[in-house]
Parts: sequence; C-alpha cells; structure tokens
Amino acid sequence: MKDLFSFHGGVKAASHKSESNQQPIKSSILPHVLTVPLRQHTGSISKPLVKAGDHVLKGQMIGKPDGYMSAAIHAPTSGRVLDIDNKLVPHPSGLLDLCVLIESDGEDRWINRRETVDYKSLHPKKVYNLLRSAGVVGLGGAVVPTAVKLNTSTAIDTLILNGSECGPWITCDDLLMRERASEIISGLHIIVHILQPREVLVSIEDDKPQAISEMEAACSSTSYRVVKIPTRYPSGSVKQLVALLTGREIPINGLPVDIGVQCFNVGTAYAVHRTIEFGEPVISRVVTITGHVNQPQNMEVLFGTPFSHLINQSGGYRYGVDQLIMGGPMMGFAVHDDQVPVIKATNCIFAARVANFTLQYPVRPCIRCGVCVDVCPMNLLPQQLYWYARAKELDRVKDYHLFSCIECGCCSYVCPSHIPLVQYYRYAKSEIWAQEKEKQKADLARRRYRARVARLEHKKQIREAKLQEKAPVLMPNANYNSRDM
Ligand code: SF4
Ligand code: SF4
Repeated sequence: MKDLFSFHGGVKAASHKSESNQQPIKSSILPHVLTVPLRQHTGSISKPLVKAGDHVLKGQMIGKPDGYMSAAIHAPTSGRVLDIDNKLVPHPSGLLDLCVLIESDGEDRWINRRETVDYKSLHPKKVYNLLRSAGVVGLGGAVVPTAVKLNTSTAIDTLILNGSECGPWITCDDLLMRERASEIISGLHIIVHILQPREVLVSIEDDKPQAISEMEAACSSTSYRVVKIPTRYPSGSVKQLVALLTGREIPINGLPVDIGVQCFNVGTAYAVHRTIEFGEPVISRVVTITGHVNQPQNMEVLFGTPFSHLINQSGGYRYGVDQLIMGGPMMGFAVHDDQVPVIKATNCIFAARVANFTLQYPVRPCIRCGVCVDVCPMNLLPQQLYWYARAKELDRVKDYHLFSCIECGCCSYVCPSHIPLVQYYRYAKSEIWAQEKEKQKADLARRRYRARVARLEHKKQIREAKLQEKAPVLMPNANYNSRDM
C-alpha cells in the first residue's frame, strides 16, 4: 500500500458513471464525410499536405507538424478530399478553423503500415520522432504533443499513469482500462524506456474496481504500482494528483517535470502502443456519449466524425436537451452546433439540460459564506476573484492568481447563491488575453514605427554625407589675415 498525501479542497460530486459504463466499447459507424481539423493539439496548426480532389488512404499524413510544438494529422479513413476550408470546430470561442473534408469511399483502406519496431534497440530520440510523426498527443484533455513531454533533460523521479478520470459522467478511461489493460501497459513500457523513471505509479480512483483489477493483472510481472486513490473531484487533475501521490507541489506556472514528475493519461499510453507496435497513427479515440441521450455509451470514434452522428447512434436526444457540452459538466464547454467534429481532445459528449448546472436556480448575491474557499483545490480565493472579475478590475484578478485557476468548477458547484463563478473567471481570462493581444499589436506597431523613423534618419544622414562629399572645397583666402582669428 502506498501512503497517500492530500490536497486542499475538492468535492464529492454525484458521479453518474453507471449511465454509460454498463456495456462494452462499440465502434462508431463510418460517417459519409469527415471534417478533420488541422489543429487538434496544443501548439501551432499543422500544414496541409493534400488538396481538394486528392485520394487519401486511412492513416495517410494530411497535415505535417509546423514547428516543435505541433503534431501531425492523419486521414481517419480512405476517400476523396472534398475541400480544405475553415469550419466550425469544438472550441469555446465558436471560431472556425482550417479543416480537411474527406468523403469516405466506404473501403476504409489503410496505408502500408510500418512494421513493429524493437523500441529497445532504438535511441529514445528515434522513438519520440516516431510518436511525433504519428500525431500522438495527450488524450487526457491537454493534447500536448507527447514527443515534447518525452524530450526532457530533467531526470524523472516519478512517472504517473493517470487513470483517475474524476469528472462526473465520463467513463472512457474506465472502459479503456477494463478492455485494453495489457495494451496500455505495453505503451507504458515504451514511455518508461524513454524516461527511465525511478518509480512508476498507476493511479485509479477507487470507484472503478473492474479497471483496478484489470490493470493490476496487467502490471503483475512489473515493478509498476497500481495506486487506488479516493474518489474526490478533481483528484485526476495533474496538480492535485501529483500532490496526492508524492506530497510535492508543482510551482505556480510550473510543470510536473519541474519537480521530477511526469504524467501521462491511459489513453495516451494506449496510443503509444498502437504506434510503436502496429505502425498506426492516432486517428480515433474512445468517447463517452452520455447525459440526456437514450442509450449512453462509449464508442471508438474516428476524428472528424460529427457529434450528431454519435448522438444518433446513441438513440438520439431525450426530451429537453438545451446544450451539448464537450468534456463533461464540470470542466467542459458548450459547443455551438452538433455538427462539430470529434477531435483528439474529445473525451466526452454530454447532452445537457440547464438542470445539470447551477443555472437552473436564480442567482443571488454573494453572502460571503466562504464555502468556495474551502473547496478550491488551488487554494485560491474564488469570492475575491468573482468580485474583481465582475467589476472588470483585471489587474486585481491577476493579483489574485486568476491564471492558477484550473476551472474545475468546484466553487460554482457548492456556491449557495448559485453564482456561475467559473464563467466569470473564463470571461476575465479571455478579456485579459484580448488585452494582451491588443497590447502586442500596439507594441509591434510602435516598434515598426520606430524602425521606420530610424531607417529614414539613416537614409537622410547618408544623403547629407554624400552631399557634403560633392560640395566644393573652400580654398583658404589668399588675403587671410591672422589678425582676424
Ligand atoms: S460560495 Fe458563493 S456565496 Fe459563498 S462566498 Fe463563495 S461566491 Fe459568495
Ligand atoms: S474553478 Fe478555479 S477558483 Fe473555482 S474552485 Fe476550481 S480552481 Fe478554485
């Protein structure tokens, strides 16, 4: 038994897991058209490698990484490229982004897949180059390119495989662990080979007994330790998980690697396994479709599949759905249309009624009860953040560490006045980002103006120097009288 530490705050929310975790993962039916965004990861958008009219095979690279912080994108099925255009993608802003539209030919024909590689005989850099060109990113939600996380010169003391999945309603990791434990551990071996950590911990919340027993069986001949952690939201969030397992705190604005820890989601380890052992790029993931649909379930879904296609295969909406949320009711965001495509970050599609949120109740004034402070896992002062965000005092919200807020929603969940606190924080963050952008634009314009003035001045000086060179040389006056000096 590993000793556990604790983290401040958190809530015991109604889990609603049993709605979707009662049946095995199903494969989604191939849609007719897939809309594949070229930005499905943290970092720069991939550069398109195809054009309208091209025929592509399943697994063919259609977007190449642009720079270090980027990831490759691949065709999820075979077919014809209809267009490359800006389309609505699942993002809180509701903005459009560049997508490749592929009309399926129904054959789902793969490219020639690379043979299995003996990763132990390869230099670690070669392994993460393979992962990079396979488009492997963190599938727990952050979608950071996995190659970037593996390319570290810091010695890793503790490697955490995160199967905690603490968000209510979401069960995709639970089902993945139940059904594909040995493949997940195969991926973990590869990550361990690269990072060479001192210890490996596999964390799972104690409300997933079947997943725990499958993962324990898969780890039985290894030194990896499966650690049951208490079911308390947001224990699966990286900062809280690291605190819980190691007793160490990730610094503000820091990363786990800063304290010798690295975390990977179970879905990411599975993707690493598929890439190295089968030469398959990441073109699909397990998605929980739940909430107010007739048959909540988990499905293996190709990226680019419209949300509506999955809702239809889950028996359609039940009466009274008001919003579709990507990522679950606590940390997710509302999408603007059910035609948006599944991307690498889509762990859950939640058909919501306003009754699932505090919005159903009338908002009352803050009574300064301090309950929000008690539950904040980041040790923030949610009440003060709320006051300053509401008053648009953006410097003050920054002083109160707005950017340390992980938007877990614990404060909104417990607020007796039903104030949608997280929405205020999101608003304040987006205002600050917009101001920063404006400031950067103004700084750029100022720098350009100064450079122009300097250039003109330089040209003027050159011109004057040339004029002086050409000017007639004045001869000393023959009648020059030294007395005039
Ligand atoms: S929980 Fe709500 S009412 Fe209580 S202090 Fe926080 S914001 Fe105010
Ligand atoms: S949403 Fe932010 S302020 Fe509220 S409890 Fe979570 S971390 Fe704290």
